[in-house]
Amino acid sequence: MNHSSLIVKPGSKFSLSEIDPEGQTNVSKDAAKYRLSKLQEKLSGLQSRLYAQGKQSLLVVMQAMDAGGKDGTIKTVFRDMNPQGMAVTSFKVPSTEELAHDFLWRVHAKAPARGMIGIFNRSHYEDVLIVRVNELVPESVWRSRYDQINAFEKLLSDNGTRIVKFFLHISKDEQKARLEDRLKSPDEQWKFSMGDLPVRLKWGDYMDAYDDALSNCSTDNAPWYVIPSNRKWLRNLLVTQILVETLEDMDPQYPAPEPGLESVVIPD
Ligand code: AMP
Ligand code: MG
Repeated sequence: MNHSSLIVKPGSKFSLSEIDPEGQTNVSKDAAKYRLSKLQEKLSGLQSRLYAQGKQSLLVVMQAMDAGGKDGTIKTVFRDMNPQGMAVTSFKVPSTEELAHDFLWRVHAKAPARGMIGIFNRSHYEDVLIVRVNELVPESVWRSRYDQINAFEKLLSDNGTRIVKFFLHISKDEQKARLEDRLKSPDEQWKFSMGDLPVRLKWGDYMDAYDDALSNCSTDNAPWYVIPSNRKWLRNLLVTQILVETLEDMDPQYPAPEPGLESVVIPD
C-alpha cells in the first residue's frame, strides 16, 4: 500500500466515511509478520542513531475510538526499541491542576526531548473530540483550538520535533466485537469502562469531530495518517512502515567519534 494515500491531504475536507477500516493489501498475514520483524530491526537501528545524535525528536500521536488498538499498537510496534530513548504518555481525564491551565500545558510538558521518541496514547486532540462531543466547553472555545493546535505543532516542528499522527480506524461492528471480547477476558476486563458505552452511542458525533480534527489539523509538518485497523497485523505493519520511512527521512547520524581514537590504548 502506498502510504501517501493514507495521509489526510492538508487543507482538504476529509471524511472517514470514505475510508474502509478493513484496508487493502496484497500481503498475507504471515508475510506481514515477517516484514514487521524486519522493519522493527530497522526501527531500532534508527532509534539508536536518533538517541546518539541527540538533536531531533519524533512525536507519535495515537488516537482511536475505544478498543481501536492504541495500546496494542504501542506494545507491538515499539517492542524492540531501547526504552531509554522513548517515553509513552497516556492522557487521561485532566486533573484539577491541569484544568486550571490552558489545554496544551500538560501536553507541551510531555513533548519529546531531543534524541527521544515520544508516544502519545491520546493527546491534545481529546480537547476537540470528547470535549466537543460532550460539550465540556462552549463551541467558541473548542473551535479556536484547531488553530491553536496547528500553531503548537508548528512550534514543536520548528524546534526539531518531527510529528506523525495516527488515527486507528475501526468499524463500529469491529468495536462491538472487541468490547465483547474485553468483557469476557479476565486479562482485559480491567480495560472495560462503563463510560465507553455512552461514547459508543455517540459514534456518529465522534466521527464528525474526527473529520474536523483531521481536516483542520493535517499539515505538512504534522500529517495525520488514517490507518485501516480492523486487522491488527495490517495496522501494525502500516504504522511501522510509516515510522521507518519518517525516521529514514529524518536521517539521524551517530556523532563523529573524537579525533585520534585509532591511537588510543586502554590502560591496564
Ligand atoms: P483510557 O484511554 O481508556 O485510559 O481512557 C482515558 C479517558 O480520558 C478517555 O475517556 C478520554 O476520552 C479521556 N480524556 C483524555 N483527555 C481528555 C480531555 N482533555 N478531556 C476530557 N477527557 C479526556
Ligand atoms: Mg478505555
